[in-house]
Amino acid sequence: MNNAIEIRDLKKTYPAQGKSPEKVALKGVSLDIPRGSMFALLGPNGAGKSTIINIMAGLVMKSEGVVNIWGTDIDENPRQSRANIGIVPQEIVMDPFFSPARALEIQAGFYGIAPKDRKTAEILEMVGLSDKANSHMRSLSGGMKRRLMVAKAMVHMPPILVLDEPTAGVDIELRRQLWANVKELNAQGMTILLTTHYLEEAQELCDKIAIINHGEVVACEDTETLLGRINNKEITFRLDREFDDVPEALKAFGAVKEGKRRVKILFSPEETEVGQMIDAIQKSGFGISDISTEDSDLEDVFLQITRS
Ligand code: ADP
Ligand code: MG
Repeated sequence: MNNAIEIRDLKKTYPAQGKSPEKVALKGVSLDIPRGSMFALLGPNGAGKSTIINIMAGLVMKSEGVVNIWGTDIDENPRQSRANIGIVPQEIVMDPFFSPARALEIQAGFYGIAPKDRKTAEILEMVGLSDKANSHMRSLSGGMKRRLMVAKAMVHMPPILVLDEPTAGVDIELRRQLWANVKELNAQGMTILLTTHYLEEAQELCDKIAIINHGEVVACEDTETLLGRINNKEITFRLDREFDDVPEALKAFGAVKEGKRRVKILFSPEETEVGQMIDAIQKSGFGISDISTEDSDLEDVFLQITRS
């Protein structure tokens, strides 16, 4: 199996509680997360991201569907599937009295890892906290505390690391530090799955993005493909007189006629320059009486996809 995680038709309905009615959180999610990838679940608050993560972590019972983590079905072998994954929760939970090394030892104890098998020093090295191994927790910066959270999720050396909204409410400096750290872990071979509602984060970090909305996957593509879609611009030229057919030189740009005097062109600014279009129009013997453009960025595409 080449996928680190396979999810098939995953459904979750939270039962009614007191006055709140039952809530359909996942409507049938299917996802393949390739081994070694850096994969983003991108979506607005309430989309169902944490529900997916918590089902994988064994913290939430699914209603229907199949989840396989590193070759192990979570129903068939919940213990093993949990051992295959390390989850970094959104909130920093930290005992102020222990040093980072001690905190990792205790965490390893929770996982039943014998002292001789613990990899405390190695893990601290991986998250760049070797210098702070025996320091007082108080002396750790916010970014270091986050990194320690990542380290704690790694005590059992899982092949997959999951970060649920790793940088929600974190300032830009910390965010960049954490990104660099996560990238390094991925470069060392770890499969990374992260949830985020920041487009920039998914774009900067991940090679593949699944957009989740209202409990459904609405897009799942390589980041580059998604960005290609987003990179589209629209330009409309109003020519100085009416014409019947789009001038030949403009057809090469995929121009379409709009009304009697306008042509519209969809293009990617990375591949085509507006100057080339203007040249083509002038060479065809037309003047330009007006130009208007419309941009679409990731934000637009995201809104477009998630509007429904
Ligand atoms: P996200 O992580 O994308 O913000 P969640 O998975 O936390 O989304 O939530 C998805 C939906 O399920 C939301 O409508 C949320 O209110 C609902 N939900 C989440 N957890 C519970 C729960 N324990 N009980 C009832 N509804 C829940
Ligand atoms: Mg969440």
